[in-house]
Amino acid sequence: MRVLFLGTGTSTGVPEIGCQCKVCQSKDKRDKRMRSSLLVEVNGKTLLIDCGPDFRYQMLSNNISHLDAVLITHEHYDHVGGLDDLRPLSRDKSMAIFAEENVLKTVQLKMPYVFRDRWHPALPHFSLHKIDVEAFEAATIPIIPIRVIHGHLPILGYRIGNMAYLTDMKELPEEEYKKLAGLDLLILEALREEVHPSHETIDEALKKIERIAPKQALLTHLSHQAGLYIDTERKLPHNVHIAYDGLSVDC
Ligand SMILES: [Zn+2]
Ligand SMILES: [Zn+2]
Ligand SMILES: [Zn+2]
Repeated sequence: MRVLFLGTGTSTGVPEIGCQCKVCQSKDKRDKRMRSSLLVEVNGKTLLIDCGPDFRYQMLSNNISHLDAVLITHEHYDHVGGLDDLRPLSRDKSMAIFAEENVLKTVQLKMPYVFRDRWHPALPHFSLHKIDVEAFEAATIPIIPIRVIHGHLPILGYRIGNMAYLTDMKELPEEEYKKLAGLDLLILEALREEVHPSHETIDEALKKIERIAPKQALLTHLSHQAGLYIDTERKLPHNVHIAYDGLSVDC
């Protein structure tokens, strides 16, 4: 399995528009973060987790021209704002989108033109698959959903083989820990150092990593307030690193 970080930033991206802070002004390309999204290549299939507003540029800049299915974690714009740009990838065959019922309903409300009765070549074509916390298959790949609490919003993370992706997480319910045993790679959110009501701090992420005990962990969905890549990376334990856009990991 290979994972490719298409984006590793929080909802505003980094740099934030108009911000003069040292992170937003940094020349290090690892401090430039598009909205969070992960590409997973496994058993000859290519899955996308989340399709945010930077999706089009992420596909072009990484030279990706095919997807087998899209998994959505939740309905916030930074995770679904690029769905319309699936048009060129859904001309011959509708794109399979997997999400919880409330997420699919929100997508249908936000993009009513996609779901009108008449088929039109200029529209994206989706086949919507309603999922819950039960295991399922996407393009023949077995997926284990993980319940994640994002402030007041219950959302999903996903385990695929020995990799798990948990973004926009504040709390992880007790019963979910056992689904995360034996991971080679755990990817989880760490927004910044200061406490936030619906996102995890770096310290909160480190506590969960210690308990889950994956071989390796990578932090994503970072804000410009998380500090410079090079400074924050130095403070982490040996098996924890900061992800950055374009990072590819085999696991
Ligand atoms: Zn987000
Ligand atoms: Zn800034
Ligand atoms: Zn969110």
